[in-house]
Amino acid sequence: MKKRITLILILMSACVTGITGLQLYWNYQNYHTVVKTFKHDVNEALTNAVDQELDLREQKIADLFKSWLADTSQTIITCNNKNIDSATVFRVQDAHPFPEASRGAQFGISDFKQKLSHITPEAKTILINFMADSMVKRDLRRGIVYFYTQKLGRKLEKEVEDSRHDPAALNRIYAQQLKQMDINAAFVLNPSKTVGGKPFLTRTINAGIQRPHQKDMVFAEFENPGTYFMREMKWLLLSSFLLIGITICCFAYTVKTILTQQKLAALKNDFVSNMAHELKTPVATINIAAEAIQEFNLSKVSADEYLGIIRYQAANLTSLIDQILKNIISEQKNTGINPSSVDVTDLLEKLVQEYAPQSAAAKTPVRFVQDKGRVTTLADPALLKNAVSNLLDNAIKYGGTGATVTVSLNTEEGNVIIAVADNGPGIPLKYQDRIFERFFRVPAGDLHNVKGYGLGLNYARAVIEQHGGTLTFISKEGSGTTFRISIPLVYNETGQNTFIGG
Ligand code: ADP
Repeated sequence: MKKRITLILILMSACVTGITGLQLYWNYQNYHTVVKTFKHDVNEALTNAVDQELDLREQKIADLFKSWLADTSQTIITCNNKNIDSATVFRVQDAHPFPEASRGAQFGISDFKQKLSHITPEAKTILINFMADSMVKRDLRRGIVYFYTQKLGRKLEKEVEDSRHDPAALNRIYAQQLKQMDINAAFVLNPSKTVGGKPFLTRTINAGIQRPHQKDMVFAEFENPGTYFMREMKWLLLSSFLLIGITICCFAYTVKTILTQQKLAALKNDFVSNMAHELKTPVATINIAAEAIQEFNLSKVSADEYLGIIRYQAANLTSLIDQILKNIISEQKNTGINPSSVDVTDLLEKLVQEYAPQSAAAKTPVRFVQDKGRVTTLADPALLKNAVSNLLDNAIKYGGTGATVTVSLNTEEGNVIIAVADNGPGIPLKYQDRIFERFFRVPAGDLHNVKGYGLGLNYARAVIEQHGGTLTFISKEGSGTTFRISIPLVYNETGQNTFIGG
């Protein structure tokens, strides 16, 4: 049995450790994946955002370039078709060239199929758009500022040199990019000073329009990825830890139940073997005494002595059987009780008398007091007697030689109060909340000179509760113990008692 329980406990421990370990591993892996993805995505989003912002700036410069080309006070655009295949050749010139001899740029557009000898407004628009959107943009992407004319070249060069990323626009585009990637984290672009708490910094990206020669560096600062993970995953993490908690609690509770059951089984075994021993001894003694009376021709005096032994052992047996029966009754708490009118005074007086020999043998005098005269109530006389007898028996047994036991009867607020007090050694405080437990006995080291099975108080309390009452006690180590029974006492109009227990 013990081996089986150990095996179950080992398997359950392995199971709980496994489940907990797997959950923790899963959370750890999840953390790594989330953090890795986060770092990758914020870098990628920044690269995209810088490219988009750069496109906007290029477009702005291209638009400016268009306005310079369209301005006839600055630029003169002409065309002719005086070449071999009569294709249109455009010419772009400064209106006021420097030096005077500057010829500007001449070129054809492969997609332009018309053969014009003079420039038309439509052809001019086509040329302006082609130059700005294709030629200039292409040059910028290559990091070149081409001087198509001296003045256009200088102006373009200045624009390009002065061009820096626009923080507000970049901020907006970056926020959009992050949103598209489902990243919900605050950031600061090019922070002047870094905040504490181990923030995450993206890689630095060149936003210069003429990269790589021109430098215009941009990076972003985010909260710590660990904090981000905690915030994003908090519900998942909470439920995971809740599951771990529940699993561990269930495990602990099961272990506790198994161990309690095992302890109880051991106690029951102890009880049964004790009981067997206790039953065998009086039966053997009775046998021997009966044989002696039968086989030897004994004098009347000797025969009486043997008969006395038989009666004494028979009484012992009866008390043991009583105890077993009480145990069975208390196990089935709802067994009915048979109430009848009980003269409690009479019941207690008789009980004290019955205990006179035991009291004399233990040198523990028992006295009975009643403060308010005779008390009669409805109760199950046999059960009530058993309950009080357990308390009285304990008081004499545990009170010890020289102690005094007082059984008192009283009424209080519609209740019958029966108290059994002794001035013996008392019950140690640390065991006081356990003495009503079945099979519990206050440990007495190796010298258990007082016999018992740890059932009496459990039984007594069950009986009193069946009567709708309570059994309580006060005990102080070194000063003694008082057990107090309180059961309802109700009289009806005819003067008869009405029992209200149950
Ligand atoms: P048992 O007497 O058979 O051991 P009980 O249930 O009657 O079992 O009592 C439980 C324990 O409470 C006893 O073992 C004893 O240690 C303690 N006890 C009960 N009554 C007294 C008392 N009057 N004084 C000191 N200890 C007591």
